[in-house]
Amino acid sequence: MLIEAMTMREFEEGLKQTKSVIVPLGSVEEHGNHLPLGTDTIQAYEISARVGEKIGVFVCPPLYYGLCRSSSKHPGTLSIKGSTLRSLVVDLVEALYGQGLRVFLLFSGHAGGTHLAMILDAAEEMLDKFDDITLGVISYLDIADEAWAAELECEKDSHAGESETSLMTYLRPGWVKGTSPEEYPEFPKYILVRNKRSYWQGGVWGDPGKASADKGERLLRSAVDFLAGVVKKLEKFHEESLSDVVT
Ligand SMILES: [Zn+2]
Repeated sequence: MLIEAMTMREFEEGLKQTKSVIVPLGSVEEHGNHLPLGTDTIQAYEISARVGEKIGVFVCPPLYYGLCRSSSKHPGTLSIKGSTLRSLVVDLVEALYGQGLRVFLLFSGHAGGTHLAMILDAAEEMLDKFDDITLGVISYLDIADEAWAAELECEKDSHAGESETSLMTYLRPGWVKGTSPEEYPEFPKYILVRNKRSYWQGGVWGDPGKASADKGERLLRSAVDFLAGVVKKLEKFHEESLSDVVT
């Protein structure tokens, strides 16, 4: 149930089936010399769309921009302020609430710590504001930890590496330009650096050499199953908390 493809009447009918919505959040961020800048958003959206189809829940058009810290000086990264991201998430949840949605899964394809902190902070505000909603926040790296451990060969896969390159090779083969060298950057501890690119030359965290389209298809399938399970868990939690209020 892709919101951007629905008519007014279809949206209204959809609300009779479900009050759940997935909000895909992404970034415009360097992903090495081989993956497109839109990787995080594309992946979050493609996974979300398949979950929506599988279990019949609403899926928002993705928020294409996010907050990128360590990659902010690499060519092509378009980072927005944390306060902007936080406001956008608040506005989106409020708009969806106004339309009748009550169960929200905020799914971020970008897993930067500061970025996720803004989303979590916005979600907490919404949780305090509306006492009849259930909210979940999950990132790409949570899926890697929970659903891909058996599949991935690279133990430190994180950014533009094995999983992202596999997924993009399956989802957008024409947008993947070869590969990039394996890389595990080290930033100085506790110190914020201006010349971030000099600490992270290739813009990769992991090993894209271990990627394949077949692996991408398998990762996509297990991500969809896992995320569908998370939505079901949220819905159950929501039902139980509503009955708590009644009794
Ligand atoms: Zn990414």
